[in-house]
Amino acid sequence: MIRIQKALRNLPIRWKLTLWSTFLIFILFASSNLLQYVVINRWTMGYEKQQLDLYMTEVRTYLTDPKTAFSVNNVADSQEFLASVNVKHQLIRILDAHGRVLASVSRDIPENWIKPKSVSSVEYVTKRHWENQILIARAPVATQSFTGTIEIIRNTEIFDKFIDTVFLVMLVAGVGGLILSFLGGTIIAKQLLTKVQIITDTMHRIRQNGLMERVPVSKNNDELAKLGILFNELMNDMEQSFMQQKQFVEDASHELRTPLAIIQGHLSMLNRWGKNDSIVLEKSLQASLKEVERLNGLVAELLELSRAESDQTKVAIEPACVDETIERAAKNFQVLHPTVSFSKQLKAEGATIHMSARHLEQVIVILLDNAVKYSRAGQQLVRIESLLKEGNVHIRVSDKGIGIPAADLPFVLNRFYRVDKARTRKQGGNGLGLAIAKRLVNKYGGHIALDSVEGEGTTVSLSFPIL
Ligand code: ADP
Repeated sequence: MIRIQKALRNLPIRWKLTLWSTFLIFILFASSNLLQYVVINRWTMGYEKQQLDLYMTEVRTYLTDPKTAFSVNNVADSQEFLASVNVKHQLIRILDAHGRVLASVSRDIPENWIKPKSVSSVEYVTKRHWENQILIARAPVATQSFTGTIEIIRNTEIFDKFIDTVFLVMLVAGVGGLILSFLGGTIIAKQLLTKVQIITDTMHRIRQNGLMERVPVSKNNDELAKLGILFNELMNDMEQSFMQQKQFVEDASHELRTPLAIIQGHLSMLNRWGKNDSIVLEKSLQASLKEVERLNGLVAELLELSRAESDQTKVAIEPACVDETIERAAKNFQVLHPTVSFSKQLKAEGATIHMSARHLEQVIVILLDNAVKYSRAGQQLVRIESLLKEGNVHIRVSDKGIGIPAADLPFVLNRFYRVDKARTRKQGGNGLGLAIAKRLVNKYGGHIALDSVEGEGTTVSLSFPIL
């Protein structure tokens, strides 16, 4: 039994589907046939009983008619009448109170098939005599001088044959249905599973050849076609994310390589001839320390970017109050850069957005930092604005700094992009600030845009839907 269960469990889905559909259709067919059979059988038996009742009434009326005045002695005279009303496959008997036969007529039923029996109330009995089904009706009869029983015995063989034929037809139809449902089940299972097989094959190919493989999608709009489309979309996302990760690692290693090469250069110079030269030693150590500091900053920023790209920080956000957060960020920033003059125009009072205050502050600090970094000395004028418009909060950070050339503007939001490598190196930027800001803003459903004129200044605009 356990072995059978195990074998059934390990059966391919195709066979499971076929067997289940065959089994269910067969049960349906068999129960419907059985029901029909029972109903037909009952109906024919009822009909037979009705017929017997009619004969019974006719015989009783004749016997109890005062004109005939039958008694035990002359009841045998009714034989002629009984013969006239009797039909094929039927036996009519009149019995006395002790069950002795007084009159009997029969057509095709031998007397000895059924033993005579007198009764005191009406009864119906069915009996089998070899392959014949016999229906017996017995009813008491009483005239003024005679009390006995009328027995009508009928061979329902004809109806039996009919019922047998019906049963045979149903059996043949049942077996035919079973074969058809098996074939249908096999075809349906095959059709369904071919598509699943295609997806499985594609997965195998992906394992062998890489992420570019896709499932061929049929024109149908059924669940399996949708599964194929979803699978392809998933693969697109995975491929894109894989490429991004690859690009990120390549970019990051490229960026890390420069400070490492500088440190290595200084160390080998010291190793060769700087050990005893205090000036070279001092210079190289200072330069190396600066690069290490830069490396530290770069690694911290890379971590920040990776965090901004991951989805985990999305959970359980305390909405940020925009103006409050800007005020706080500007205040903290002013402490670090006392020479910068701020002009604030905050008109989004009370508005909150679906972003954690920490991240909004981080974005604003990145923008303020850039505004200061890329302003000319003595011209450190930064303007911060907030306003509400069409269900959105708009935040703008503008400066009167050196601006960004139009050719570079589309790329400054990319990772590691710097307008002027030499210039930025002096200012210590890694080209990651705006990339981090963009990831954070987009993650919370916001939008970031840059507007800049070289030599005149830059404006960075953020917009978020109001909560
Ligand atoms: P970084 O850390 O180098 O500042 P960002 O991603 O913040 O990196 O900026 C990318 C580049 O965009 C910078 O190298 C700089 O050339 C340019 N940039 C960003 N903000 C400004 C600004 N306010 N004014 C002028 N140039 C800017």
